[in-house]
Parts: sequence; structure tokens; C-alpha cells
Amino acid sequence: MLTIWSNQRKKKLLKIYTIEEYEYCVKRGYEPLYDAMFDLSFTLRFLIQNDLFFGTVPERNQRYYLWNWKHKKHRCEECNSHLSEYSASFISHILPRSSYPELAFDPRNNNILCLFHHAQWESEEKRKTMRIYDKNMQMIERLKNELIKRK
Ligand SMILES: [Zn+2]
Repeated sequence: MLTIWSNQRKKKLLKIYTIEEYEYCVKRGYEPLYDAMFDLSFTLRFLIQNDLFFGTVPERNQRYYLWNWKHKKHRCEECNSHLSEYSASFISHILPRSSYPELAFDPRNNNILCLFHHAQWESEEKRKTMRIYDKNMQMIERLKNELIKRK
């Protein structure tokens, strides 16, 4: 594992190269799949995501939604309301699965949102007034860049 300095974000990045290194971090309470402190190649992300979210497409979706529910706070990222019981509808993709199937199982590509704000994010116009809009636009730029670089 290599520690590098990111000029862009002015903080330390931990570069992970193998699944073993990923598992080492998870055992110590980190989650490199969405913690911005970690830097993983697209290929490694893909391998780990296939490992975690395996099966038919509906099974993969279910595993992905449950994983995100288990690993993230049960609060709407927009209005902070508490979400008491699990529903797959609380996991809102930032870039849609239909246009970006490569990012369908990336834990960075979603927000935990209440039903009202999930619906608001789905609207290209209405989403612009959301608190999470700027943060999501930055994530969109980052994810799209990774997709371009991968090719
Ligand atoms: Zn909300």
C-alpha cells in the first residue's frame, strides 16, 4: 500500500492495489469503496464490486442496496430526516443505472435520500435547488473522468 499526496484535494490518499489490501483496510474499520481517503483503480473497484454484489441482476441490485443501507447513515442527506426502516427506495443513484451501467454498483454513486428528495433528485430541473447538488456534481465529474481514463 502506498501513501501519496493529492495536490488537488490537499490530503493524503492511500493507494490500494489488491483485494488483500482492500480487505486489510475493511478489517480495520475503513471502507475504501466510498471513503475519499482511498484511491483504487477502476479495475480493482470492479473486481471488489463483483465479489460483494454477485448473482443475477435483481440479486446484485438487492445486495448493493442492502450494503449501502448497512454502511451509511440512515438519514436523508438532503433534509436530515431519520429513515427508520430499510427500503431500497432510500438509495438514490446519482448517475442513473440506465445510462451508466458501469457505475450501477459503485457505492460512491448514490445518496441516502427520503422518498420526497429521491423524487426531487430524479427531476433534472428540480434537483438544481438541492443542498446536495454541488457535492453530487463534483462526484459526477469525478466518476465520469474515471470512466474516460479507464478506456
Ligand atoms: Zn429528505
